[in-house]
Amino acid sequence: EDCLDVSSILGSRLMLSRIDIDDIPSLYMSLPIAACLIGRDKRFIAANEKYAELMRQPLPSIIGGSMFDINPKVHIDNVERDFQTFDSGGRVTDHEVVLRGESLLVSVNPFFLTGEETASAISVTLQNITDRKKMEAELLATHHDLLRAKDRIEKLAYTDTLPNMPNRRGFDTVIEREIGNSRRQQSAFALVLADVDCFKQFNDLYGHVAGDECLAHVARVIAGGLRRPTDFCARYGGEEFVILLPQTEPAGAIHLMERLRQDIQRLGVPHSGHSAGVVTASFGIAGARYVPRSMSADTARRLLLEHADAALYQAKESGRNNVTNGGLIPSA
Ligand code: GH3
Ligand code: MG
Ligand code: MG
Repeated sequence: EDCLDVSSILGSRLMLSRIDIDDIPSLYMSLPIAACLIGRDKRFIAANEKYAELMRQPLPSIIGGSMFDINPKVHIDNVERDFQTFDSGGRVTDHEVVLRGESLLVSVNPFFLTGEETASAISVTLQNITDRKKMEAELLATHHDLLRAKDRIEKLAYTDTLPNMPNRRGFDTVIEREIGNSRRQQSAFALVLADVDCFKQFNDLYGHVAGDECLAHVARVIAGGLRRPTDFCARYGGEEFVILLPQTEPAGAIHLMERLRQDIQRLGVPHSGHSAGVVTASFGIAGARYVPRSMSADTARRLLLEHADAALYQAKESGRNNVTNGGLIPSA
């Protein structure tokens, strides 16, 4: 019977006589979110329990009362500004306010009496979106966590655990891209296979753990010796590495690999089972003047690997600790 009570208050105090004002209070009462109707005089024409809860005031003291009694000045200023906006034909977009740590989505709409040009009242609804925002924030955080986890998994899948360098899958991705670049830009391209010499012996002599450590040293020398940002190396197999040198002529590739060969030798990792006395590696180089448009990426890749592998074989044959050029793949 609250409603009836309220409507009688309304009837006695307000002048909304041209509409059926009796319906207004019960209408506001029935809204599932905090709502109130405020007149130009900043008095509450209607409000509901949810609004009363939000304002921490008993509902009967709100209805018919003034904003000046219960609302902070900023609310009153907002209502004043909203009236002016509606008077000039504008509208108020939904916005968010924070009240005592709760996020509220505020919608403000004008309330016109029949035949009147200006708004007689404004209807305000406040939807508590704190939980929704919290959920959104949690979802976002979860999303970020998932992305980070995905990054880590991808890196693990593409990176070898022993020498911290990309593995064959990493190589697959990069060679496809670089062959495409060489084809588009008609630019020179080199691929190198590097293989540690007499490494089975090394393991036999010094053990697998020392072997792993040695491979990590060699990997660091190779990765550290590549200077251009487009240069790339990956662990191709056990003690084999593959090096991609985009926009590099064979002469440049030979020069660079010769330096890597010397740097590995200079590491000076003792290897009594090898004639050099220290760990060394052999290099087989393959080049392309450019990858012709008529050649598929798969074919280019296969030919480059075949040439590099043949050159590596030659390097081993001629005594190891060697750089051998396997020549160019056909460009037409
Ligand atoms: P070559 O000079 O002809 O290359 O002789 P090699 O002994 O290096 O070649 P081979 O292919 O016969 O043996 C390669 C050996 O490298 C086999 C294996 O014992 C060792 N190896 C491969 N992967 C790893 C690894 O991850 N860790 C260690 N410790 N050893 C490895
Ligand atoms: Mg090998
Ligand atoms: Mg080897």
